[in-house]
Amino acid sequence: MMRQFELVERVKSYDPAADEDAINRAYVYAMKQHGAQRRASGDPYFSHPIEVAGILTRYRLDSASIITALLHDTIEDTSATYADIERLFGEEVAHLVDGVTKLSRIELQSDRNKQAENFRKLVLAMSEDLRVLLVKLADRLHNMRTLHHIQDADKRRRIALETMEIYAPLAERIGISEIKNELEDLAFAELHTDARDSLVARLNFLREKGGGLIKRILDELGRTLREAGLAAEVSGREKSPYSIWRKMQVKNVGFEQLSDIMAFRIVVDSIEECYHALGVIHSRYPMVPNRFKDYISTPKPNGYRSLHTGVFGPASHRIEIQIRTREMHEVAQFGVAAHWTYKQGHRPADGKQFRWLQEMLDVLEHASNPEEFLEHTKLEMYQDQVFCFTPKGDLIALPRGACPVDFAYAVHSKVGDTCVGAKINGRIMPLRTPLNNGDQVEIVTSKAQTPSPTWERFVVTAKARARIRRFVRQQQRGQYLELGRGILIRAFRQEGYEYAEKALEGVLKIFKQDSVEDLVVTVGEGNLNGRDVVVAIYPELKNRPTADNVVALKRARKKPAGNAVSIRGLIPGMAMHFAACCHPLPGDRIVGIVTTGKGVTIHTIDCDQLEQFSETPERWLDLSWSENESDPDKVHLGRVNLVVVNEPGSLGNLSTVVAKNQGNITNLKITNRNADYFEMLLDIEVRDVKHLTNIIAALRATPAINSVERARN
Ligand code: MN
Repeated sequence: MMRQFELVERVKSYDPAADEDAINRAYVYAMKQHGAQRRASGDPYFSHPIEVAGILTRYRLDSASIITALLHDTIEDTSATYADIERLFGEEVAHLVDGVTKLSRIELQSDRNKQAENFRKLVLAMSEDLRVLLVKLADRLHNMRTLHHIQDADKRRRIALETMEIYAPLAERIGISEIKNELEDLAFAELHTDARDSLVARLNFLREKGGGLIKRILDELGRTLREAGLAAEVSGREKSPYSIWRKMQVKNVGFEQLSDIMAFRIVVDSIEECYHALGVIHSRYPMVPNRFKDYISTPKPNGYRSLHTGVFGPASHRIEIQIRTREMHEVAQFGVAAHWTYKQGHRPADGKQFRWLQEMLDVLEHASNPEEFLEHTKLEMYQDQVFCFTPKGDLIALPRGACPVDFAYAVHSKVGDTCVGAKINGRIMPLRTPLNNGDQVEIVTSKAQTPSPTWERFVVTAKARARIRRFVRQQQRGQYLELGRGILIRAFRQEGYEYAEKALEGVLKIFKQDSVEDLVVTVGEGNLNGRDVVVAIYPELKNRPTADNVVALKRARKKPAGNAVSIRGLIPGMAMHFAACCHPLPGDRIVGIVTTGKGVTIHTIDCDQLEQFSETPERWLDLSWSENESDPDKVHLGRVNLVVVNEPGSLGNLSTVVAKNQGNITNLKITNRNADYFEMLLDIEVRDVKHLTNIIAALRATPAINSVERARN
């Protein structure tokens, strides 16, 4: 176990300004908090956080990261709280420790291969700060180094699998190949013990058989480069058992060649020298075809740069060679952690690093102090997503801002359609609650439930929105169908015909409809007039009046009295019609406007349109309804504007309420529609203004109807 002064010395060696006092306090605090706790190995528990801190010193992390490593298990495993850490070590450290704690709580429950990518994203998203991820990787590395102490074989296997699927790829993604390689090899030893043992035995055999071969190759390569005037470091490295094994798996071959187990590396000072060294090697030894790769001009996504080549080298042994600069070498080993090195003043020459590193280096260049620099180490990846669990532990990836309804639809359309409630982390929460990373979401369903249009206001996924809309459309179609049929039945009857769906078939083409049902729905939606349909079927009706007041006139015509409506004050013989703007009803105070050649137009006294005639009082005619106008046989058109809540059944309620009050809907037009409500215009046959007022009152008492106003314009 590393001792307190050793840890401080290591940090001080690369960061003379490190907060020595805080590191000392954290060391003592972790020791006290973990107290008599023991590891599976029998070691005191606090040896673990200290080793984790030690691993991170290799990557020259800042004091806050080292302190976080020392404290990383205190919130989860001891009596320490976030508030304690914040009080003793400040907000930054408390936040970092909290981040590591959260990551520890989402450990994999089982081997779910297909979910590995999502788990990796989850870990990245939850890390938020790069340092959280680095501490977590060091934590995992130490746990893997001590994995063999765990007795439970299933547990060992689970941890090894998780390491292989989640943490090694994460280490690779941020370019720390050292940690990646070690994690993989430790996991490999647990998961495929026999395969690894036989590989190691084979490696030992080949090494012995080769005698001083590797040294001879190194010497010759070094001499060759020196003779060409290049000062280069040449080294040989045995590939890890896991990387050899994976290559054998992928290519389905055994290993025999030296090139299968050894890689040689040439490290020089500049990019020019990389290509120079490559030229020297290629002109001295025959190339192995298709082995050359230039990762300097085209770096790997994680920022890795090097030249790779294969040659038949000294004594015609096939070997693989990597050529790189010192800086490239550092990035290859340390990945993003390498930028802490650059903090000391070195920078890669062309700066073509992967995005994070590049951004961090940019910040570094412009940041005035280290604190500002650290501000910018926040992870940006996957911040637009949230990852949540089903009760079974499946991971569901959703866009940020998603709510339980989105989650339900992501699980299955049926779950979405029937969801009535949600438990988030065991607590019942509203369906509109935004979800957070790592939330466990349980959807409560009911067969009686159907999608609600109000959900559209808070869902964010396209799938949820599309399903809700589709359902609402289907519901509305049913309502429009009913409404349209009612309108058509009346329209037929008014012309003296019996409604027959068969008759509609003949006019589908005229109205560009595909089916009878479509036609009826179109009428119900108010996009087609019922009478127009009847006229199309019976063209002889064409010459009969079709004005707005056609209904009133038609009914009236049946009366022997002759005059359509009884209005006092009209000039005998003068044509009369009702204004389409205000739809006067018996009981309304009315006024007539005389237009030469057209006769009298009757408006209600409060109609806005009257304004335009204020300069021509000679055209005004005082009118009033006659006593007997409220004849139940006579009907007039009342027009109302409504705002109706957009939910299944609301249109049905509307027509029921109107029908119950002896009104007939003859026309319905939706003037505005959005996720929450419809605005519509409704024409209702009524006897008089009192009748309409009753209907309006009844509509106002209907919950699904927001507002009802008589149309004034
Ligand atoms: Mn730990």
